[in-house]
Amino acid sequence: MNNIDSLKDLLAQPKRVAILSHRNPDGDAIGSSLGLQKYLDKIGHDTTVLFPSEFPDFVEWMEGSSEIVIYDNEPERSEEIVNNSELIFCLDFNGLSRIDDLGKFVEAQKETPKVLIDHHINPEDFADYTLSDTSASSTCELVYDFIQLMGDREKLDVNIATALFVGILTDTGSFKYSTSAKLYKTAANLVELGVDDYGIQDRLFNSMTEKQLRLLSYCLSSRVMKVFDEYCTGIIVLSQHDYKRFDIQRGDTEGVVNYILKMKHIRFAALITEQPNIVKLSLRSTGDFSVQEIAKKYFKGGGHKNASGGISYQTLWGTVEKFKKILPKYREQLRAGLEHLIPEGTAQK
Ligand code: 5GP
Ligand code: MN
Repeated sequence: MNNIDSLKDLLAQPKRVAILSHRNPDGDAIGSSLGLQKYLDKIGHDTTVLFPSEFPDFVEWMEGSSEIVIYDNEPERSEEIVNNSELIFCLDFNGLSRIDDLGKFVEAQKETPKVLIDHHINPEDFADYTLSDTSASSTCELVYDFIQLMGDREKLDVNIATALFVGILTDTGSFKYSTSAKLYKTAANLVELGVDDYGIQDRLFNSMTEKQLRLLSYCLSSRVMKVFDEYCTGIIVLSQHDYKRFDIQRGDTEGVVNYILKMKHIRFAALITEQPNIVKLSLRSTGDFSVQEIAKKYFKGGGHKNASGGISYQTLWGTVEKFKKILPKYREQLRAGLEHLIPEGTAQK
């Protein structure tokens, strides 16, 4: 991080601090925000966590989650919090457009120092202090690093560690991807602080409702999930009709896209959903195939090499057609090393 000493000076006096994270906050957005909040509270600051939109039910058990301010529910209060803060932390996003209207409020506070802690590719240059590392598994891993950089290792406790462990687990799919020797060391230190790792896994991943599991089975049915063997790609498409029929709420489709990658010959997966005004794409890949590039080039989005998202203003089926047209351009890259795994009879389809 640049200028850590000057940030240390700023944090030497109690401040009103706003901690912001991205729309549709995931486990990493919530874990990093609450973890940082607990740390900053402990060293004497007055903090508020602020998200553009609601967080999913599976993190409601987290201490401090009920005090999070949601812009969609309280726009005026949210603006006031940004305007009145003396320091703004931006966590787990790389550009102000990812926080909707909150981005405008942050931008307007020219005099308020801003800190960005993030692991997405190409962070925008809007913060005075930036801790950005695309090789980090999660923003939670970086918040842990930040606390070390502040020289406050002894301030870490089981509550901070629990929050940070949540984002590490969710962003790595329980240590399945984006791992490193450094991450395992960090995780070991968090467990040493008393994190109930099995208990957290259970609360995060064995917490589906019957409705959500039935929806998953529908998503995987041959009507909804399409597999393009030739391109080692699979998609799941959900229309507004499906949203009504299954009463799909935020968080209900969390993780669904990853199931497509469970097939041995699949390298590229997409969940394409019809939202009220836009079509949303949630993209995943394995290995060197960059969905970040696809999201950026074709769907006004971004994220990480193996997990990105984007949007389309075309109709749902127009978007699906656009998506299918992209595949031949990447045929060789998509198939490289997987040819022998493509099911018999489909290789030349
Ligand atoms: P998800 O598919 O879970 O919504 O998002 C996967 C990753 O892509 C996350 O890291 C998220 O930050 C990023 N992402 C999702 N949607 C968008 C988007 O519309 N624009 C950008 N720039 N990134 C996105
Ligand atoms: Mn993250």
